[in-house]
Amino acid sequence: MTKTIIGYPRIGEHRELKFATQKYFKHLLTAEELQETARQLRAKNWQTIAAAGIDQIPTGDFSFFDTTLDTAKLLNIVPKRYRDLHLDDLAEYFALARGYQGDTGDVKALPMKKWFNTNYHYLTPEFDADTQIKVGDWQLFDQFQEAQAQGINARPTLVGPYTLLRLSRFLDGRKPADFVAALIQAYTEILAKLAALGAKWVQLDEPALVYDQTDADLALFKQLYTPILAAKGHLSVLAQTYFGDVRDSFDTLTALDFDGLGLDFIEGQENLAVLAKHPFPADKTLFAGVINGKNIWRTNYQATLDLLAKLPDNAVLSTSTSLLHVPYTTRNETKIPANELQYLAFAEEKLQELADLDAIRTTGTKHAAYQANQALFATPRYEENAALNAKIAALKPADYTRQPDRQTRLQLQAEALHLPDLPTTTIGSFPQTAAVRKNRAQLRKGEITEAQYTEFNHAETRRWLKIQTDLGLDVLVHGEFERNDMVEYFGENLEGFRFTENGWVQSYGTRGVKPPIIWGDVARTHPITVAETVYAQSQTDKLVKGMLTGPVTILNWSFPRADVSAKLSTEQIALALQDEVLDLEKNGIKIIQIDEPALRENLPLRKKDWYTKYLDWAVPAFRLTAAAVKPTTQIHTHMCYSEFQDIIKAIDALDADVISFEAARADLTLLDVLHDTHFETHVGPGVYDIHSPRVPSVDEIVAIIHKILARIPLQNVWINPDCGLKTREEPETVASLKNMVTAVQQVREEL
Ligand code: GLN
Ligand code: ZN
Repeated sequence: MTKTIIGYPRIGEHRELKFATQKYFKHLLTAEELQETARQLRAKNWQTIAAAGIDQIPTGDFSFFDTTLDTAKLLNIVPKRYRDLHLDDLAEYFALARGYQGDTGDVKALPMKKWFNTNYHYLTPEFDADTQIKVGDWQLFDQFQEAQAQGINARPTLVGPYTLLRLSRFLDGRKPADFVAALIQAYTEILAKLAALGAKWVQLDEPALVYDQTDADLALFKQLYTPILAAKGHLSVLAQTYFGDVRDSFDTLTALDFDGLGLDFIEGQENLAVLAKHPFPADKTLFAGVINGKNIWRTNYQATLDLLAKLPDNAVLSTSTSLLHVPYTTRNETKIPANELQYLAFAEEKLQELADLDAIRTTGTKHAAYQANQALFATPRYEENAALNAKIAALKPADYTRQPDRQTRLQLQAEALHLPDLPTTTIGSFPQTAAVRKNRAQLRKGEITEAQYTEFNHAETRRWLKIQTDLGLDVLVHGEFERNDMVEYFGENLEGFRFTENGWVQSYGTRGVKPPIIWGDVARTHPITVAETVYAQSQTDKLVKGMLTGPVTILNWSFPRADVSAKLSTEQIALALQDEVLDLEKNGIKIIQIDEPALRENLPLRKKDWYTKYLDWAVPAFRLTAAAVKPTTQIHTHMCYSEFQDIIKAIDALDADVISFEAARADLTLLDVLHDTHFETHVGPGVYDIHSPRVPSVDEIVAIIHKILARIPLQNVWINPDCGLKTREEPETVASLKNMVTAVQQVREEL
């Protein structure tokens, strides 16, 4: 079988690209030196992939920032404000990606959005009255030739015209249809040029096909591709999809003159049903995405062989998505013991899996790799927590339901907590200064004792309790100084997680994340936040709010297990957090916030699956964490990063007492939705954006509070910033909060 992959990570095994790019930004590296680092990284990737025996190797998947932006740049979809900066190509590219402030102008970056259901972000191309599509020479042709020169059997890849249109923004009254002719011409030209350079196959990424498609969508797809494919000559064109299935576009795809169709058989389970109904056309090649490109577990070879048996014999063995979404290699992990590491496969190990599967198909199950894989999967990876899973199986609706109803609870809480109108609070974290991070690093390296570490954090908490009290805030927080990251911190303190040293995955541009791995059944073995919270409460007469990360966010920001459902893992985490919530309550904490900033992130791509394949268990899991507290204990939650309008009912159904939202950054558009849906949860729509050091004025915040009060009953409103303040400096934090409290005092006097 031919073996290929959709794409490979590009940040470098040791994040070389990140560090080189940052040096270039600081003018410590020239553009040519950065290009040289990039060339070396590409060459190393290609050698690794070729050495593993992969037959067709993608090029154009390398990017200095984002491949959607690369495609836009190649097509000259560069808004005038960036062209007017008169920068060289590389500098202009980074201006699009990160904004530019310098000698020739001041422009913000293009908006960034999450790439489908991943934690990778792409830059949103912008079409306007001024857009002149024409094919330039950004990256694509050079990378292909560079690979060819190294003897690589290269398959150039780029974002296809349909997905490009679906992901872009249209200004000046322009719409996708206005650009169809120009895109047809441009893609035709690109294919011709690649064919002339010697390409045999070209991969056009069309993941937008896995969303729900309307007839108009499919007509657009056909309109774009009919002429492009009519002109392709001997070149073979692969339409590559991933992150789901092509149930509504399969007929359209097969009717067009594509040479290959790339289908995802991991997330796109439905693709099998599609193939069962319509045989795969004999004149096309199926690129079968059978190795999971998004998760980090070893493939069970027998299961994959069973899957392959249902697919055409001449299918190309491939990954389900680009390997961009997993770390480079397990070889660099020294802390995870070998007997555990053998269950993990990052990008490099997945190459080997493709090679193994091909060899096993030829040699049969006598193959040593097959035998070893069978043996691996025959050994239990971890010991099941049977008691926990029995408890989960026995959960009843009442276990997810707080008593009494929210209105009654809020009444009892008002009597118990004695808060003023428009109570003020913050979202949890205060600045993670160099000193705070150094304290954690010193503990990790064993340079200070546990007691010294704790004393530093306590001193910081005391200092910030005083600042909060002097400012006149009503509900205080301890500041989260002991937390490196809101998910990692809980993962480290719960049973069932593993952590990598080098498992970096690109989130956007130079920013990487190192997601924890949910290894086994998750359980709480000891209190996690109780000591810090109780300490803070002991230092003040005001109320201190306990601070937890919610079960859905912990799951969504980790690598999930493949052997149990996300639902079960999330319920396990929820039960662990329930113990923590009850412990906080028992120790006198009266307000507990359970953050769920990532609730929206794993919403299925198809809307009709939202309530049947995700929210149906995600919302109950949150409810489980808080269901057993006393009526007078007030449960808060917090959300940010995304738009909530379309799931606002589900958010209300979390049955929290109070929620703080990121709102100021999104121009408070949320207020209308909260009003129109009669949102019942008491709510703190953020009154200022925390992503910039800018200090909002008192008047500005007063105006925002008036806007809020015009839409939401006074008794339901809390006042807080958009999100936590960990990324801010102390002076602007204090100045901003001072203005926030002053603004509230002014409004209270008017009441
Ligand atoms: N409590 C967290 C903080 O304040 C919430 C962070 C988040 O929403 N991303 O930092
Ligand atoms: Zn937030």
